[in-house]
Amino acid sequence: MNKRTISIFGATGSVGTSTLDLVRRDRDAYDVQALTAHRDVEGLAKLAREFEARFVVIGDEDCFGALKDALSDTNIGVAAGTQALVDAADLDPDWTMAAIVGCAGLEPVMAAIEKGRTVALANKESLVSAGALMMAAVERSGATLLPVDSEHNALFQCLAGGRIEEVRRLILTASGGPFRTKSLDEMRGMTPAQAVAHPNWSMGAKISVDSATMMNKGLELIEAYHLFPVGEERIDILVHPQSVVHSMVEYKDCSTLAQMGPTDMKVPIASALAWPRRIETGCGPLDLAAIGRLDFEAPDEKRFPALRLARAALRRGGTAPATLNAANEIAVAAFLEERIGFLDIAALVERVLDEADIAEPRDLQDIFTVDRAVRARASEMIGEFARGD
Ligand code: NDP
Repeated sequence: MNKRTISIFGATGSVGTSTLDLVRRDRDAYDVQALTAHRDVEGLAKLAREFEARFVVIGDEDCFGALKDALSDTNIGVAAGTQALVDAADLDPDWTMAAIVGCAGLEPVMAAIEKGRTVALANKESLVSAGALMMAAVERSGATLLPVDSEHNALFQCLAGGRIEEVRRLILTASGGPFRTKSLDEMRGMTPAQAVAHPNWSMGAKISVDSATMMNKGLELIEAYHLFPVGEERIDILVHPQSVVHSMVEYKDCSTLAQMGPTDMKVPIASALAWPRRIETGCGPLDLAAIGRLDFEAPDEKRFPALRLARAALRRGGTAPATLNAANEIAVAAFLEERIGFLDIAALVERVLDEADIAEPRDLQDIFTVDRAVRARASEMIGEFARGD
């Protein structure tokens, strides 16, 4: 059997390492072309050696020398910086995993899409920021976009049994995060350590905080809107604390298909890696008798205003979702650095959105311009929040 060539953007992260765990299970089936990271020189060099990558890119140019030294006794190509990430996306693998966190992943994802590649998309922020442009590029280039986010992968699987025109509702499930049962007063004093302690999933810091604020579900709403054209009003969010049902599709005959599985990202990643086939993941199967019950409840937008903000940004359209995303990235980073409180995250995003001028982006440069301006404004506001203004 021919080996499949693959590239992994964000190889040192949570999704990246889960992807490589799957590759490790069937090492001979894959030929690793490119692996990328941001600053983790040691982790990237180790993976590059283990998987005999042909090309590695470190996002932060200051780390170039260290990476070059770490791989000096190999033939592995080494590069650094944003343009090098885009160049890596220009290679020609059979399958690309887009698992950089944040809008920093947008350019390489778009480069891979423009080339008509098969792209497994974990990097939801890129689709949130530039959804219309990205989906137009998919249409133009004939690229295949395979959703990796567990909810979207679930919808993708449930939609295999029906037609998009026959869908009445898409139901995105949400665990509710670590603060699901906390009052607003209790949430006010929550620390980064408490926010990243997700009850069901083990994930990177940024998405863990997004789960705690439920902005993650807001971003996923926007992601689902672009991936599955049913209209925003047909996408609902349902809190399901056990995270067993990863999402559901309700068809017009009132038949609802749900996808279930263990809370391990290897399952949706494997679905995208093997698509349209299936591979072993090494995960323990779902033991429904041991789980015993599945609970569902409506989300509470008072305690989790990020849900309301994301839907409003999606309805406003244009650069509003990119504004929401950039403000949220800055706010989450400030919270992780303990410069603002937990409730300030959504408050800051709301303030940025309230004062933002929203326009229709013509191209990626428009998105980057908005992204930069919003980051600068949100960073100024961090100071005001820290002072309690
Ligand atoms: P992590 O923070 O664990 O990993 C992020 C990866 O991106 C790392 O390899 C990191 O490199 C790299 N990276 C970070 N910043 C930059 C940058 N500016 N330029 C280039 N590379 C960068 O994130 P996750 O794996 O948790 O998440 C990745 C994406 O997948 C996110 O968009 C997230 O929303 C999405 N996702 C994650 C899930 C999960 O379970 N973790 C589930 C569903 C979606 P370095 O290690 O050097 O910092």
